[in-house]
Amino acid sequence: MTNRKLATIQKISNTLPIEGRDKICLYHVNGWQVIEIIGKYEIGDLVIFLEIDSWVPNALAPFLSKGKEPREFEGIKGERLKTIRMGGVLSQGLLLPVNNGIGGFKFIKDTNGETVLVDEGADVTEQLGILKWEKPIPAQLRGQVRGNFPLEIPKTDTTRIQNLRDWEIISRTHTFEVTEKLHGSSCTFYLDMQGEFRVCSRNLDLKEDENNAYWKVARQLDIENKMRQFGFDGCAIQGELVGEGINGNQYGIKGLDFYVFNIYGSNVRQYFDADVRTKVIEEIGLKQVPKLDITISGDIQEMLKLAESKSLINGSEREGFVLKSQTDTSLIIKVISNKWLINGGDDQ
Ligand code: AMP
Ligand code: MN
Repeated sequence: MTNRKLATIQKISNTLPIEGRDKICLYHVNGWQVIEIIGKYEIGDLVIFLEIDSWVPNALAPFLSKGKEPREFEGIKGERLKTIRMGGVLSQGLLLPVNNGIGGFKFIKDTNGETVLVDEGADVTEQLGILKWEKPIPAQLRGQVRGNFPLEIPKTDTTRIQNLRDWEIISRTHTFEVTEKLHGSSCTFYLDMQGEFRVCSRNLDLKEDENNAYWKVARQLDIENKMRQFGFDGCAIQGELVGEGINGNQYGIKGLDFYVFNIYGSNVRQYFDADVRTKVIEEIGLKQVPKLDITISGDIQEMLKLAESKSLINGSEREGFVLKSQTDTSLIIKVISNKWLINGGDDQ
């Protein structure tokens, strides 16, 4: 099951022709653009919008398999939605029609064939059986599970800028810390209120194991002792594990390394603000994700263009950047580079 809204009911906000193409055009939904047959939808139409990295069951959209045997993920036959380029333009996601009922009601059919009434903004991810595609986890990252991710610590999910309808207003009413989005694996070190030091991957609390990359980096950087020594009780240090064997290691790092992007105080139920975090991280001698000097624009497309650049770590193609509001530390937004995505990046 997923808690991300991968399939939602949205309104077509615009359509645009594609130069040199007379059968297909672009349809806009929030900050996204999707290629489809000309005339299939009109501005103002409600559609089902499926985001990239949706795992779409074959029964819902058999044409995605292009006549071939569908792939399989978590026992479900289907296909993954990727960023594609056609006629020189990007297409991200999939549009499917909603049905018109009597009296102007809109409805869809769920996986059992039941009718579900829908309206703009409705989340239909579960009804349509959409899963979040995830890359298979390599052995050294898997580890032995000690338990679930601690409930009192937020998981490190962030909102994609394309999904923020009111980005223009948000951009004017918040100030942001901008940091490079590193493409490794999310890692949380937590000294809980019972005094136990815990090491977690994005979703799991892991048993100590010398072959596990999260524990390896924790020991290598002496995180447990540092957290105890500096009184981090109840705090979680969250960052990106990068290096050999981790998600393609585009940074060409030897061994393993760790870059902090957040500290969370479970007792105050808040992230540390950027300045405090920076001071604390310096004091305990860890590294932070690179800070970027980017002028925020209210235009999503401009922000996406700014995301396309080189990594400050080694000059490889940058995954993108992350915006953390200084006004409201719970607002964290990701801006993923389309250039990075089209070159095969998988936004994990
Ligand atoms: P996603 O997994 O695409 O939802 O993006 C969120 C993930 O980005 C987090 O789980 C982190 O592991 C990762 N990440 C990498 N760099 C940063 C950064 N600078 N700030 C926040 N998160 C980051
Ligand atoms: Mn990534």
